[in-house]
Amino acid sequence: MKEARFWERAGDGRVRCFLCPHHCYLRPGQRGICQVRKNVDGTLYTLNYGRVSSYALDPTEKKPLYHFFPGSYLFSLGTLGCNLSCGFCQNWTISQEEAPTLEISPRRAVDLTLSARARDARVVGLAYTYNEPGIWFEYVAETAGLAKGEGLVNCLVTNGFLEEAPLRELLPLVDAMNVDVKAFSPGFYRKVCKGDRDPVLRTVEVSHRAGCHVEVTNLLIPGYNDSEDDIAQLVDWLAGVSPDIPLHFSRYFPNYRFTEPPTPLTTLD
Ligand code: SF4
Repeated sequence: MKEARFWERAGDGRVRCFLCPHHCYLRPGQRGICQVRKNVDGTLYTLNYGRVSSYALDPTEKKPLYHFFPGSYLFSLGTLGCNLSCGFCQNWTISQEEAPTLEISPRRAVDLTLSARARDARVVGLAYTYNEPGIWFEYVAETAGLAKGEGLVNCLVTNGFLEEAPLRELLPLVDAMNVDVKAFSPGFYRKVCKGDRDPVLRTVEVSHRAGCHVEVTNLLIPGYNDSEDDIAQLVDWLAGVSPDIPLHFSRYFPNYRFTEPPTPLTTLD
């Protein structure tokens, strides 16, 4: 447990967190929506610092990042929790549940990446992925800083639901990110993900303008976000940010609370 960043005291032992747009207002003993930040006696702590639920050496294309060191590998790690609660989450066992974790310090994560690179020069850096890295801010920032100092790259695979100040603090350390834009409809974000769309769009715009390599993914869910109108709006907005940002359409499979059948291949075509 480590004291969190981006919060303030709000009277009566309460705190307000400003890491993500939920701005949780927490009584002593209460956790935020993400489940990994907690008010302990009037101070906000991060509960997932150094706690790793999953790690693997993944192809960079799996993130997906298709235009960033093609053919390379990233030491990929994730923790617990999420600040969204998408009913179709493909990684709900770590984003919505308390799963077992290993302690891996920032230095150890970088050393593991360096030893993987010593065995295979295609290993170029780290990816913070599997669950939402934005709510792992303190760990990601420290690890990414160490990794940069060793000549490694840092990639985020994120839902983009982060406040602008922490995002701008991370950006100098982040070489590439894939932002999951789950739909273009604000109503979809509110009803299906329990969040807001506009901060996600802002993350794409701010990150691209800051010079970070950005790719966007849209998971197509039959009957929810796959109409021609939905896709046209997403494409028009992204092309307005930059026609050079790659857009991936990926296939949904039933998971967590969703039982609808998988996305037809004809939709993806
Ligand atoms: S990071 Fe967590 S505690 Fe902070 S505002 Fe977002 S959901 Fe709430």
